[in-house]
Amino acid sequence: MLKSVLTGEQCAKCKICCSFVREDVWEAPDFTRDTLNEKSFKDEKEILLCPALDSSKGCTLGEDKPFDCKIWPLRPFMIDGKLRIGVADICPAFTPETDYKLKNLLESGLYDVIVEMVEKDTSLIKNHTKDYRIIF
Ligand code: SF4
Ligand code: SF4
Repeated sequence: MLKSVLTGEQCAKCKICCSFVREDVWEAPDFTRDTLNEKSFKDEKEILLCPALDSSKGCTLGEDKPFDCKIWPLRPFMIDGKLRIGVADICPAFTPETDYKLKNLLESGLYDVIVEMVEKDTSLIKNHTKDYRIIF
């Protein structure tokens, strides 16, 4: 979904969003949370990988990956009654200087797709934290 602004090469080198520490497990797709739960982690520093991640090929789910993953590093938040979109600070592919690429994509139809999806599944809406800069 973000292929026009995010290359596979950038993600292949990084994989941050497919690995989790205990406090980040709320971010994981549902099926990953079923496998990784608080008790899976030895301590708060241990990093565990999503079971769908292949260390050389990346995500093995292709187009079947969860919607959460398709739009990452974007996340929908409900703020003051409005659906707003934030970008994860942790993603090295975007900075406040390059967020305009994501904003353009949202203006060109991605925001409407996200609205349609969250209307069907409100669990896609997350609680806003300071680690996401609101861009839309
Ligand atoms: S954090 Fe960003 S750059 Fe890294 S794998 Fe995820 S989307 Fe790609
Ligand atoms: S489903 Fe795929 S993209 Fe999503 S966290 Fe797992 S490996 Fe990463």
